[in-house]
Amino acid sequence: VEDARVEAARAYDLDRRHVFHSWSAQAEISPMGITASAGSYVWDGDGRRLLDFSSMLVNTNIGHQHPRVIAAIQRQAAKLCTVAPQYANDVRSEAARLIAERTPGDLDKIFFTNGGADANEHAVRMARLHTGRRKVLTRYRSYHGGTDTAINLTGDPRRWPNDHGDSGVVHFFGPFLYRSRFHAETEEQECARALDHLDEVIRMEGPSTIAAIVLETIPGTAGIMIPPPGYLRGVRELCDRYGIVYIADEVMAGFGRSGTWFSVDLVGVTPDLLTFAKGVNSGYVPLGGVAISAAIAATFDHRPYPGGLTYSGHPLATAAAVATITAMADEDVVGNASRIGAEVIGPGLAELADRHPSVGEVRGCGVFWALELVRDRTTREPLAPYGASSAAMNDVVAACRSGGLLPFANVNRIHVVPPCTVTAEEVREGLTVLDAALTVGDAHLPG
Ligand code: PLP
Repeated sequence: VEDARVEAARAYDLDRRHVFHSWSAQAEISPMGITASAGSYVWDGDGRRLLDFSSMLVNTNIGHQHPRVIAAIQRQAAKLCTVAPQYANDVRSEAARLIAERTPGDLDKIFFTNGGADANEHAVRMARLHTGRRKVLTRYRSYHGGTDTAINLTGDPRRWPNDHGDSGVVHFFGPFLYRSRFHAETEEQECARALDHLDEVIRMEGPSTIAAIVLETIPGTAGIMIPPPGYLRGVRELCDRYGIVYIADEVMAGFGRSGTWFSVDLVGVTPDLLTFAKGVNSGYVPLGGVAISAAIAATFDHRPYPGGLTYSGHPLATAAAVATITAMADEDVVGNASRIGAEVIGPGLAELADRHPSVGEVRGCGVFWALELVRDRTTREPLAPYGASSAAMNDVVAACRSGGLLPFANVNRIHVVPPCTVTAEEVREGLTVLDAALTVGDAHLPG
């Protein structure tokens, strides 16, 4: 333990001197150390064990340090560490087959990228070339990645400093009944009005100018808003009516997170392109990609696709994907996510919401849940303003950590997004810590 502490202290010191962190004012952060992980747990720089209710950045769907995935990476490293994308390679081919087997409809060709942002970059590029149109529609309250096109697709404040008005992206409002933009009181009204709004945006922007609509099937970082029944089917119909490519971003919502292989399976809708990353190999080695429909793939049968990456289908990453998908299938990891969500997380969070006035809404499925925290249940004023943090939220997060729980927090929300392998007992342990943390949140409420 002492050695681990010394190592963690040195890592912190070097980090502060040399590491430049994502999305941060560099002088204002003090990154927590992580020295080890296993299953649903991680260990911090002081040797304390924390239950990982964040799955890091919602990517360790198979849990930390799964032995079959580690062994596959080790075997592949000993056999062939790297191979350029123009060659055929056994693990890349097998990973593509296993993914294509699970994606809906005729999404049977896979273009591999290094992560989710570049998957979305390429999906948009394919849609633009396929349609000969440039404009792309995406929703407010969404996250699609940090590269130039992907951050401009994004509907959250991180886009603002990167938006120079020339991205060709137009944002619209998606369904979100709790904070309805459409003055709706029921899911049916929200669904109908959100579709009507999207139809009007398309007609006002000019259907012949729009290449694609990009939608997270269940918006993740922006709040885990499950679309009302019929919404995605309606989007599919609008895309068909106007000749627009439907791109489903399943980077976070895919590979078991919602209790199905892909969240579009929940509603039986087939997009034209589907982007994935994260859970495809739980992030053990960086990997993402685009699953491509037959019609779009055919566009590039005799016309070169103008895009590529040195590491497209990297063997360490695709070997990890083969092992991850195979182990998830053998161990019914997706079924576990579905059952734990329905039987333990959902009821447990509903019970917390009953007792804690700071909880405005609980929503989710599988191992993909959000607690929307509010200062006032009647006005629904959030516990931190849009795009910002607050002392109350910081205290809730600190209480989670001191209780031994690593949460995923964003603005006024705590997300409960453990690995898909999480056990009922682990969930109950986490809910006990959350219970105490929400009491800290309640104490911030006025009156
Ligand atoms: N799309 C969604 C829905 C995501 O949640 C993320 C990452 O959180 C991305 C895209 C970007 O993925 P990456 O960080 O691998 O580039």
